[in-house]
Amino acid sequence: MTLSDIMKEQRKRQKINEKSPTEVAAYWTGEDLLDGMPTKSHTIIFQTRGCYWGLRGGCTMCGYIADAAARPPTPEDLLAQFESVSRRIDHGIVKIFTSGSFFDPGEVPEPVRDKILSELNLYADKVIVETRPEFVTDKIVSAAKMHVDRLEIATGLETSNDNIRLNSINKGFLFKDFVRAAEVAKAHGLTTKAYLMMKPPFLTEKDALEDMVQSVMDASKYAETISINLCNVQRGTLVDELFYRKAYRPPWLWSIVEVLKRVHGKTGSVITSDPLAAGQNRGPHNCGKCDYEFADALRKYSLTQDISVLNQLNCDCKSLWQKTLELEDWTFGSPLVY
Ligand code: SF4
Ligand SMILES: [Zn+2]
Repeated sequence: MTLSDIMKEQRKRQKINEKSPTEVAAYWTGEDLLDGMPTKSHTIIFQTRGCYWGLRGGCTMCGYIADAAARPPTPEDLLAQFESVSRRIDHGIVKIFTSGSFFDPGEVPEPVRDKILSELNLYADKVIVETRPEFVTDKIVSAAKMHVDRLEIATGLETSNDNIRLNSINKGFLFKDFVRAAEVAKAHGLTTKAYLMMKPPFLTEKDALEDMVQSVMDASKYAETISINLCNVQRGTLVDELFYRKAYRPPWLWSIVEVLKRVHGKTGSVITSDPLAAGQNRGPHNCGKCDYEFADALRKYSLTQDISVLNQLNCDCKSLWQKTLELEDWTFGSPLVY
């Protein structure tokens, strides 16, 4: 049985969150860097038919399929979703997710895509759309570019290591596919953002740390921005199943701090990490006492790129984390500490 077969079985058991087809899956505001300045950002997650790859099983840590619509939204539904949030956007960065690919015409038909982009162009300073690399084609990119002045293409590369991407994440594409997409974006004057995933399943803490250092270095040759997601345990995923069996622990916050210290100043990219669910058992965590301080420092680093906020961090749990790095190679993938 392949990982893909396991994921197909897994998806059959995953529950879909029922919502009206005219409601977005989520919308929130935050802050991100724009030309070196912290700037208001708006994140919209559209409710679409769902990621085609996810519907076939998809990635081992991805719970987004739960946000897919129970019945495929019509073009009018998608535009109603957009209108329900667009009046709250007056400037700043707009990040568009679909829990899949904004450029997949099966999720967002071309006329809907064009309308959303051209309207956003009236008030957003920059628009970022997430998509798998196979949808980044000359045809799609040049059509999108006609409607928006400043566009960035974000791709969930996850890691530059093909073995990990295929056999730990089940992502179904190769590093060279990401490189091709980034080159298409560049040829059209667009920038690229790479999302990386720290500690997908079946990796020791140390392997996960080394993988992120290498992945940042590799991706930075093609991506102006790199955002490191720290794996958290989303309901209904394979990671959730492993977590339940005590075979998975989300990454230590010490590990991401170490990654950022090691890559800082070595690339020309902006490197960020928003530690979602930090401090929870299902999210990245240290000992429970220092988690919020670490999460705050990571958010500050992401907005300032000032490494001194990470250099100041300390806690008694550092030695336990160091022992974990040293000894987990001997436990055949089982976490030493939860
Ligand atoms: S992580 Fe992205 S590509 Fe993978 S199943 Fe989820 S939405 Fe699809
Ligand atoms: Zn601690």
